[in-house]
Amino acid sequence: MPQIPIITLPDEKTLREVSRPVAQVDAGVRRLWDDMLETMYRAPGIGLAAIQVGVPQRLLVIDLSKDGEEKKPLFVANPEIVWSSPAQSDYEEGCLSIPEYYEMVTRPSEIRIRYRDRQGEPMELHATGLMSTCLQHEIDHLNGVLFIDHISRLKRERVLKKFQKAQKLGKL
Ligand code: ZN
Repeated sequence: MPQIPIITLPDEKTLREVSRPVAQVDAGVRRLWDDMLETMYRAPGIGLAAIQVGVPQRLLVIDLSKDGEEKKPLFVANPEIVWSSPAQSDYEEGCLSIPEYYEMVTRPSEIRIRYRDRQGEPMELHATGLMSTCLQHEIDHLNGVLFIDHISRLKRERVLKKFQKAQKLGKL
């Protein structure tokens, strides 16, 4: 399975695109999921949206299993958040498109989503803890939203500048 290059800052143009739903979960979608999963494992990361590899389709892969544990990939197509808890939690988030930058983000603690699974079947999932955070982070990607949009403007501008400067210096 080939790995696909992950788009990182300061290339915001692609990352800001709103992704389209897939008409159906077919062999092409499953192949893309497999390539995304391989790319995410190698990075390594726990979640990846298709737009991060340049494909504007509403597709995610997530795997929260720890090193050495059995892999538990979750394949998600066309996710929709149908309920969010009023209670919120803070998690320190990172993103494969914003390497080596971590910041606390506040989001609803629990969510319920509807999506299509690897067989194209409609599914519902009630997510808590890290799964809830990860799903909200990845679904944001499908809407062109990055986790740095949830932090202060000052911090966001600082991180964007850092990546622009690194690119200018040829360090990316
Ligand atoms: Zn991300």
